[in-house]
Amino acid sequence: MGSAAAWALSARGASVIGLEQFSLGHNRGSSHGRTRIIRRIYSEGSLYTGLIEAAYEGWAAIGRQAGRDFLDKTGGLDISLSQGGIFEDALAAAMQSGQPFEVLEGVDLETRFAMMDLGGRGRGVFNADAGLIDSDEATQWMRQRAVEQGARLLEETPVNGWSRTQRGFEIETDTARYPCRKLIIAAGAWVGELVPALAPVIIPERQVIGWYHADERFDDMPIFQLESEDRERFYVFPPHGGHGIKAGLYNHRRERGMEHVPPRGVDEADLALLERGLSLCLPDIRPEPVETMECRFTNAPGDRFVIGTMPQDNDLIILSPCSGHGYKFTPAIGEIAADLALEQETRVDIEPFSLQRVL
Ligand SMILES: Cc1cc2nc3c(=O)[nH]c(=O)nc-3n(C[C@H](O)[C@H](O)[C@H](O)COP(=O)(O)OP(=O)(O)OC[C@H]3O[C@@H](n4cnc5c(N)ncnc54)[C@H](O)[C@@H]3O)c2cc1C
Repeated sequence: MGSAAAWALSARGASVIGLEQFSLGHNRGSSHGRTRIIRRIYSEGSLYTGLIEAAYEGWAAIGRQAGRDFLDKTGGLDISLSQGGIFEDALAAAMQSGQPFEVLEGVDLETRFAMMDLGGRGRGVFNADAGLIDSDEATQWMRQRAVEQGARLLEETPVNGWSRTQRGFEIETDTARYPCRKLIIAAGAWVGELVPALAPVIIPERQVIGWYHADERFDDMPIFQLESEDRERFYVFPPHGGHGIKAGLYNHRRERGMEHVPPRGVDEADLALLERGLSLCLPDIRPEPVETMECRFTNAPGDRFVIGTMPQDNDLIILSPCSGHGYKFTPAIGEIAADLALEQETRVDIEPFSLQRVL
């Protein structure tokens, strides 16, 4: 989100400095892991509609500027293995959205996507606009573009604190103090360290993802979310960029709190959870991963985002759009940050994500 804000602000001629505590593109936050899912039919609810439209427009604009598409529309499915749940939510969202969609159930679903074996129990909503984003590459492109547009991005530069001054803010690092007129804090899992009022409400949560060897039968697989009978939700990506199938379990082991932020290594219990997800839908996939990574969600109440200015301070902008589903909105959120910093308002409806809601 910081990279996107730097990109959008510098594109509008603002003078930008970005400070990152680790290396740029590091793997200790929420954004690494090569790819992220994007969905147009949003089972999370209609409050995301404005953001979704802005996000698809944003990715198209970035595609034009970059001369390459970071978004690969593989199509996407929201599947439940029992009554209710994600299938019903996606169906309601699909009907409300006005977007084209298909309902596929039982044998029909497995005939259409023959690489899946759901035991005839699957009920899914398919949308052709869903897909995956080459997120590592897209974020890197935003940073590079920001620098070309005049932004200064400093890595290995932890922010130790900030204070209000008469003309704006002063940011303190180990070696320097930086004055600025507007301050955007997009600190992910660490946001509570820079904005203590948010520490009790924005809670990091450890996640694990795995990549699995897959042959050409899986090449045309859509991205999908699968809700099991016991309401666990898995997400699965088709093979991409030579890295095989990627899979994860939302909320994983529900390990929440700052103590779960530092990487500690993936163990057998982590792998067993991912293996269970694969066994429910892709039993032909060998359950030994080719690669694994740890990552972290930064959960806000109701799994919503926190985006906006601090109450009583229009110059201090917080971007905490994670709760496990924020990446797809990155270009939109960069533009929103630029709108708030330069115009004090934005055309996208961010009321559902306001700071007032959580503070
Ligand atoms: C496993 C996993 C799967 C996901 N899947 C999807 C998906 O399929 N689709 C989707 O849309 N979203 C998905 N998400 C969510 C999405 O990736 C996040 O919403 C998004 O990446 C959050 O970005 P961020 O900039 O808020 O956080 P981060 O990328 O973590 O950035 C915060 C940055 O702030 C830096 N920082 C913190 N404190 C300081 C300080 N004091 N000084 C300097 N720098 C500091 C950190 O080092 C870090 O680089 C997923 C997340 C995870 C973990």
